[in-house]
Amino acid sequence: MAGLVAAARARELGAAPVVYEKGDRAGGSMLLSSGVVWRHRSLEQFREECPGANPDLQTRLVDQLDEAVDWLESLGAPVVARDTGNPRTVGRRFDTHGLTDALVRATGDVRLGEPFRSAEVLATGGFGARLARERRLLLRASPWSEGEGIAYALERGADLSAGMDEFYGRNLPAAVPEEHYVDAAQLYGGRALVLDAEGREFFPGEPSWSETDLVQATARLPAGAAWYVIDRRTLRERVRDRTVAELVEVARATGGEVWSADQLPFELPPSPKLVEPPYLAVRVLASVTHTIGGLRIDAGARVLREDGTPVNGLYAAGADAGGIFTGGYGSGLAAALVFGRIAAETAVAEG
Ligand SMILES: Cc1cc2nc3c(=O)[nH]c(=O)nc-3n(C[C@H](O)[C@H](O)[C@H](O)COP(=O)(O)OP(=O)(O)OC[C@H]3O[C@@H](n4cnc5c(N)ncnc54)[C@H](O)[C@@H]3O)c2cc1C
Repeated sequence: MAGLVAAARARELGAAPVVYEKGDRAGGSMLLSSGVVWRHRSLEQFREECPGANPDLQTRLVDQLDEAVDWLESLGAPVVARDTGNPRTVGRRFDTHGLTDALVRATGDVRLGEPFRSAEVLATGGFGARLARERRLLLRASPWSEGEGIAYALERGADLSAGMDEFYGRNLPAAVPEEHYVDAAQLYGGRALVLDAEGREFFPGEPSWSETDLVQATARLPAGAAWYVIDRRTLRERVRDRTVAELVEVARATGGEVWSADQLPFELPPSPKLVEPPYLAVRVLASVTHTIGGLRIDAGARVLREDGTPVNGLYAAGADAGGIFTGGYGSGLAAALVFGRIAAETAVAEG
């Protein structure tokens, strides 16, 4: 997304950008996403939830997101909901196919199937595909983000942000096809008794609302797999617009392992989460959506060296840029949008 945004904004500012797209379609992971472009309600809340991030970048995101979302709409991107459905956040939900079409139209020159050779704005989506392969985790994202933007900048003297081992992802029931990346996410870890393959509770305390911390902990287990054990009462509870029972049904339908808990090869530890029998056990596998660490940038999206000076003529946005969500979770679409626009504005002003 960030590359299309940067190019659309640069064209608006009078430049003649070209987008090189390695994949066979435009839109990257944005096309596969839920399309919710959001921010935390306040900078303080954002700081609290992503404490390791760079406050200058967080401030930019909070200050500029609303205007940037209006701009997306002005390009003809179709809005499907004017709120996020989450009281902690503000934003809009877009139809991702319509959003991709609007950005491609505004960009003009998008060359599919052509990896970039040289670039001013790096926006290759981080290194989620490589991370998933190296750590033997599932990938829940478009398959082309191998870290080539980051490698290009490192060769030119760039520095990295904090959080290079962090990623955003979801626990999935199986290696589901792309069309199930959104609806198969098992997002009720906070209501389940969460166990490793030996029946041990491995996650201390309660997971955060996004469950990104639980997914990262699951990823550290052998095979990146855990069990979510739930009772009958939990099946009736709602996770946003669906019940847990519906989420479990998608797990079953997409090839996941959904067992009666008495078939598990270990005794269940006592838990206040298991009240109303019978109990069900769903096997979940950690998946990577995108990396959180990346290139160190400043608030103008300039790629920085270790000494804090910019690498001449090089800018980064989207998941190629790190330091925005370190230690937590935020909207990758918002980062791609805000820093994609900023990268174009700085590049045009300095070019
Ligand atoms: C299922 C799912 C649901 C999601 N839901 C949400 C949501 O609701 N809200 C939210 O904020 N975020 C969501 N996300 C995350 C969001 O999609 C990403 O954070 C966002 O797309 C990142 O933008 P980006 O520009 O960095 O990467 P991308 O959008 O992935 O774009 C990177 C592009 O670079 C291309 N590329 C890679 N390497 C090269 C190369 N060498 N040369 C040329 N091109 C290259 C890739 O093919 C890709 O098209 C979701 C993601 C998924 C997969």
